[in-house]
Amino acid sequence: MNKRIGVLALQGAFAEHMAALNKIGADCFEIRQKSDLTLQTPDGIILPGGESTVIGKLLQELDMLGDLKKLIEKGLPVFGTCAGMILLAGKLSNDDHKYLGTMDITVKRNAYGRQLGSFQTMGLFKGIGDLGMTFIRAPYIETLSEDKGVEALAVVNDRIVAARQGNMLVTSFHPELSEDLRVHEYFIQMLT
Ligand code: GLN
Repeated sequence: MNKRIGVLALQGAFAEHMAALNKIGADCFEIRQKSDLTLQTPDGIILPGGESTVIGKLLQELDMLGDLKKLIEKGLPVFGTCAGMILLAGKLSNDDHKYLGTMDITVKRNAYGRQLGSFQTMGLFKGIGDLGMTFIRAPYIETLSEDKGVEALAVVNDRIVAARQGNMLVTSFHPELSEDLRVHEYFIQMLT
């Protein structure tokens, strides 16, 4: 049976992820409430970019944080972009919040400062090749635990901007805003 990907649709760039998944022929649906997670557990989840404080607060208010955390800890494949990376981070270096905290990475929020709020660049993504990357008030990964199986997948200007730890994939940038959907295809491969 076709794998179904749930896209967390509380705030942020979820529609762009749905469009990207539709383009590559992946079956997807929006996760808006607790029952969307528990009644028909998805085969994979995307946590979109947006505002991590808002998404985190909504997850808490809708009582979804614990369920989502458990599913990810049990091995559900998850792809976090930008704010999604912040939600998955075990530690934030410049913010006291912790949301799902399942991934052994330390992330800096809004790490490129105001001047460099948004930019595009090319970078090498391990297993994919050269890739256009769009950053919007992006975080980056300051440290990761290689001994816990975290692998850096892309480094741009000495900053880690993509990583994987088993079932968890994160990018600082927004592949859903690009025509090049190879990172989504990479994630689909993680579902099988
Ligand atoms: N700056 C946002 C945050 O801290 C993330 C930006 C994004 O997702 N494009 O949540």
